[in-house]
Amino acid sequence: MSSIRVRFAPSPTGTLHVGGARTALFNWLYARLQKGVFVLRIEDTDQERSTDASTQQILRSMQWLGLDWDEGPTEDGADSRGDHGPYFQSQRRDKYDEFAARLLQENLAYPCYCTPDELDAMRQKAKAEKRDFGYDGRCRDLSHDERKEREARGRTSVLRVRTPDEGSIRWTDIVHGDMEIAADTVEDWVAVKGDGFPTYNFAAVVDDGLMEISHVLRGDDHISNTPKQIHLFRELGFRIPKFGHMPMILGSDGKRLSKRHGAASVEEFRDENFLSAALVNYLALLGWSPGNDQEVFTVQQLTKKFSLKRLNHSAAVFDPEKLAYINAEHLKLLSDKQRLAMAWPILVDAGLAEADDGQARAKLGQVLKIMGARVSHLNDVPAYCAAYFSDDYELDAEAAAEFDDEAQAHMAKLAEAMAKVEGFDAASAEAALRALADELGLKAGQLIHPARFAVSGQKVGPSVFDVLATVGQERVVQRLRAPRRPA
Ligand code: GLU
Repeated sequence: MSSIRVRFAPSPTGTLHVGGARTALFNWLYARLQKGVFVLRIEDTDQERSTDASTQQILRSMQWLGLDWDEGPTEDGADSRGDHGPYFQSQRRDKYDEFAARLLQENLAYPCYCTPDELDAMRQKAKAEKRDFGYDGRCRDLSHDERKEREARGRTSVLRVRTPDEGSIRWTDIVHGDMEIAADTVEDWVAVKGDGFPTYNFAAVVDDGLMEISHVLRGDDHISNTPKQIHLFRELGFRIPKFGHMPMILGSDGKRLSKRHGAASVEEFRDENFLSAALVNYLALLGWSPGNDQEVFTVQQLTKKFSLKRLNHSAAVFDPEKLAYINAEHLKLLSDKQRLAMAWPILVDAGLAEADDGQARAKLGQVLKIMGARVSHLNDVPAYCAAYFSDDYELDAEAAAEFDDEAQAHMAKLAEAMAKVEGFDAASAEAALRALADELGLKAGQLIHPARFAVSGQKVGPSVFDVLATVGQERVVQRLRAPRRPA
């Protein structure tokens, strides 16, 4: 096993959305490519906003996407597995306390007694002076007595990290290249809050350090945290991971992707019957490019091709049409058996078959076969397949308008011809239809188009003879005799 250790560290304050899933995926792909370790860590120190339901949803979404983790919570989220656990930050308080004590002892941090009002006044002042808010360091050098005096007055304190005043903090970002931040623009930041809980930056450094994380791949929105974290990794003597900040995912309007742009959480895509392999494929293209124009990749191919060298640094735009295309391509990659297994529950849910009806299941297998690539999304299954399972199916308006009295008269004759066919299948139905066309002096198409409408309600679709054979002789004869017409 390599020394590559990456992590996905979601805060369980909502659903796993497209942006988070992409972060998880890129870390997972890198771990799989490098035969490294993929760690899942739940950053649930925000007691008010973190929920167990959200943790559960994140775990479910990861499992649906197939992003298995080597260390982290157990699948049900009840426990942890791995040598660096626990993997819930809420269960790691002893570690944060220990490092906080060390920071204090080594004078790398200090207690700050400023009240919210004082901090607010500093903020106002900075604003008036057109400076970014920066804590002014007034508690930095309090003497022992000054601290005691504040404590005696009942002032609570936070723990602030003493950041350097001079020099700069640098790193070579995997995505953005060389980065350099002047140290004096990094304020003395809070590591431990008044309630004793660690802040995100502090807990993340302690955990990335103890969990021996080698690479941190995360969203651009964390760039401003990185100088603080690098400084603390160094102070605590941890190995500094390599950082890569991936560009945000935007909606088509150029704004950050959110609910407003339609489905944004992984479970919504699952509920809309997208294939997880298609979503994984599409997410991989949001921020990574293969270096050629190939767009469709199986998950296995991705784990071989993915490379940190090919991460893009410009924002990625989420394009639902592209996702639909990739989904259709993945549907084609499924075996007949896999496609049937996915389509069957959808047909049952639509009320078109009973779950235990083996014959109907076999029939759906046939229908899917004749439909082939016409089913480009599993959601189309009920509408495209209804005519094979029920008399209640949609009628195509254009085909209905073309279906006139003459067509109806032809269908009545076709019904009788079909009723006489022995060993009814696509070939025998075709022979009977062509014989009737000859007899009536019609082109085959003059029977084929109205027959397709009369039997399936559609204007286009699979070979009409396959449709007839699959709908079955009895239903075909009935429908040709008395085609449904729009009300
Ligand atoms: N919990 C943080 C988040 O969800 C993790 C950021 C990081 O990867 O360091 O944004």
